[in-house]
Amino acid sequence: MALTLDQLNAAAPDEALRLLDGLYEHSPWVVQRALAQRPFATLAALQWALVQSLAAATRDEQLGLIRAHPELAGKAMVANTLTAESTGEQSRAGLTHCTPDEFAQLQRLNADYNARFGFPFILAVRGPRGSGLTRQQIIAAFERRLGNPVDFEREEALRNIHRIAEIRLGDKFGVEPELGHRVWDWHEALAQHSDPGFKEQGQLTVTYLTDAHQACQRELMARMRESGFDEVGIDAVGNVVGVYHSAQEAGFAAGPPQGETAPSGGSEPREAGSVGAMRLLTGSHFDTVRNGGKYDGRLGIFVPIACVERLHRAGRRLPFGIEVVGFAEEEGQRYKATFLGSGALTGHFNPAWLDQTDADGIRMQDAMRAAGLPGTLDAIAALRRDPARYLGFVEVHIEQGPVLNEMGLPLGVVTSINASVRHVGEVIGMASHAGTTPMDRRRDAACAVAELALYLEQRAAQDGDSVATMGLLQVPGGSINVVPGRCAFSLDLRAPTDAQRDALERDVLAQLSAICERRGLGHRLERTMIAAAAPSAPDWQARWERAVAALGLPVHRMPSGAGHDAMKLHEVMPQAMLFVRGENSGISHNPLESTTSHDIELCVLAFEHLLNGL
Ligand SMILES: [Zn+2]
Repeated sequence: MALTLDQLNAAAPDEALRLLDGLYEHSPWVVQRALAQRPFATLAALQWALVQSLAAATRDEQLGLIRAHPELAGKAMVANTLTAESTGEQSRAGLTHCTPDEFAQLQRLNADYNARFGFPFILAVRGPRGSGLTRQQIIAAFERRLGNPVDFEREEALRNIHRIAEIRLGDKFGVEPELGHRVWDWHEALAQHSDPGFKEQGQLTVTYLTDAHQACQRELMARMRESGFDEVGIDAVGNVVGVYHSAQEAGFAAGPPQGETAPSGGSEPREAGSVGAMRLLTGSHFDTVRNGGKYDGRLGIFVPIACVERLHRAGRRLPFGIEVVGFAEEEGQRYKATFLGSGALTGHFNPAWLDQTDADGIRMQDAMRAAGLPGTLDAIAALRRDPARYLGFVEVHIEQGPVLNEMGLPLGVVTSINASVRHVGEVIGMASHAGTTPMDRRRDAACAVAELALYLEQRAAQDGDSVATMGLLQVPGGSINVVPGRCAFSLDLRAPTDAQRDALERDVLAQLSAICERRGLGHRLERTMIAAAAPSAPDWQARWERAVAALGLPVHRMPSGAGHDAMKLHEVMPQAMLFVRGENSGISHNPLESTTSHDIELCVLAFEHLLNGL
């Protein structure tokens, strides 16, 4: 018989401790201290108590717990002296069936790791979905973590111990995050589409309107149709749009047209002023950076799809429609345009973008037509939404930072999105012979840009919470024996308020002019994006807070350092975001980006709570 929370809450202290036996390897004190917080309303609340229990322990107690763990594929496994839990986990990960080479490699890693950190390597080998990492993934994680700083790695070991306990807890309670698994699998499937040059290397890259991008559109549409959306289509900038009708709309449209109807956004007549005609807008982007992660953006499309699927299966309609948009473009990778997808909905599509060319010289307008889109400004202008017909915009996103991961919290409520501005530019000097041009006679464009890069670092640090990055730095047509005559670069500046960002930008641009003047160089600069800080609408933020609290979790409020589609929608309607914890210190824009099916499930449930409370 699986354990229930009622049983655990009602049990005498010794009995409760026995019920959770084996959760933390040879260390019942972690559970014992957490049990003082009974009763627990949810499993998530119990887990939070466990996180707090371990966080409050002394350093020696924490190290004792870490050292109570067996080595992976170590002597204890070979001698068959592991706990029942560890035996199951290690054999499920295939560690009992290593090849002699793998076994030797693991022994070497165990020895190196122990020598460096003084405790055994701990990894939740059942992985983010609970179904088990491959031996290759385990060895790769081992090698990667060997390079971590000692203090960081101790915390990472504790996080893995909590993850192991989370899965063991699910086994005890007979609870699987089936919903989370399902949505996790959707991400895996969508990540099979990747641009040429990256796919071959197993990397994920999906840029605007490539074949892989169009394959993603088709897959998202199919997912929406299967999930019971009433209208599914691709709009004029390539966004995938699905609408689940309100009770009122569904009643009016007896037998709504299935499948191919392209949602027309604001232009289609509908009775205004009644709640039934109102919609909640939500979604995020499905394009990626180069060699990016599987969850950035996509989580914010799949989570509401999962909610609609549950409504549809239950035969339920809400008093408002749900419009889920998979935004075609947010990352600004192929063209010098960002938020192209969400910008079209707010009427901020820049007409000049259509004539922009990508690295292969393909104009955006031609790329659109090749992808079957009209490629006209009229069609794009028609996508503009009438804010009066929307309740607001909510977006779910992976945090892309370390905060929730460090706190041991699955969800966080966003208070505001940082203001940002981007430029691309070029410094122009004189290409000349590297051997014959004396140092005092050079007009070296790359040295000027390097000087600016160092200034960026120092100026942003001065604010404390500003960030500045030069992510692109390139000498076009450069050569080993030529003084750089040109140097192309980018600027990405962000700060919590518009005024702070403006001051940062002013100083950086002034410094660029000063550097160029001193060195006798010219420069060009193009501002490609500017976005105001986007504070969450208080009533919408409060809805997310209630949803998180309803799961038995503490409400953690945090700003967003990254830009999101919500900051575009912010220009026309109230918005608020929910963050989901990322594994591996919340790393993002990186293939190591990861989140667990447990966290995804909590996120779906939070979204559902928000829908039901509207
Ligand atoms: Zn994103």
